[in-house]
Amino acid sequence: MFENLQDRLGSILNNLTGRGALSDKDVSEAMREVRRALLEADVALEVVRGFTDRVREKAVGAEIVKSIKPGQMVVKLVHDELVALLGEEGVAIDLNAAAPVVIMMVGLQGSGKTTTSAKIAARLEKRDRKKVLMASLDTRRPAAQEQLRQLGEQTGVATLPIIAGQSPTDIAARAVQAAKLGGHDVVILDTAGRTHIDEPLMAEMAEIKRRANPHEILLVADALTGQDAVNLARNFDERVGISGLVLTRMDGDGRGGAALSMRAVTGKPIKLIGTGEKMDALEEFHPRRVADRILG
Ligand code: GDP
Repeated sequence: MFENLQDRLGSILNNLTGRGALSDKDVSEAMREVRRALLEADVALEVVRGFTDRVREKAVGAEIVKSIKPGQMVVKLVHDELVALLGEEGVAIDLNAAAPVVIMMVGLQGSGKTTTSAKIAARLEKRDRKKVLMASLDTRRPAAQEQLRQLGEQTGVATLPIIAGQSPTDIAARAVQAAKLGGHDVVILDTAGRTHIDEPLMAEMAEIKRRANPHEILLVADALTGQDAVNLARNFDERVGISGLVLTRMDGDGRGGAALSMRAVTGKPIKLIGTGEKMDALEEFHPRRVADRILG
């Protein structure tokens, strides 16, 4: 992930630092190249525009061309902007609420929702010593409910017994009730996905939210999603209201644009990243480290 962007930005910025004096024109030219590199990395156009405009403005404001090491200053501005885009600090899942804390997982089908639900549950049990209950609300695909049940069995996390014929909202209410009775600290609701965003899906998510009153609503998205990532994030955030993002397949060779865009358009933190199919392939997201890596 990010390798291509790293190479491209590296060479553009190296070019700047290698020189003594810089004119406004040099800075503008470099920003045009940065813009092209970000677009090629699948960062959304609206995000890219804002990014390079802000760097250019600051560069002019800082009278960069007159500074002793103008190239380094531009590199620093790009780095700072990248950190701002990714969200300064890492933000953990918030469990600071009365038990049972409800975490609702949303996203498209195949994004990694079920896998991520189980990964988070397993981590909360093992590392944070929480008692977790997972429930699949995917009534359209019985295989999805079975998949979560199996992952629960594999990781030793309790799953809500499946009752055929219940609606997603009824299952959500039953899960919360069962967690209260069973003394669970956390309930993870693995909602149904679709292959694309549609109105019935959004209405279903809104209804589940109303019934289950989740403390966290995490949008699970495939990091390999290209320009669609912006629509996806914006739609879920506007219709359902998300509290954070989880990006899966960060182990793949995606160009990384989704990570940069989704945080930027929603303002919601990337809380976790999935780095493989195994249950322990889940990591916290550290914006500054990622920015450091991208800029070498
Ligand atoms: P859902 O339809 O959103 O519930 O998606 P699933 O959880 O069933 O995941 C779809 C596929 O993606 C499965 O084969 C998972 O093993 C795989 N997957 C999920 N997260 C990751 C990840 O972070 N990295 C990789 N390489 N594969 C993942």
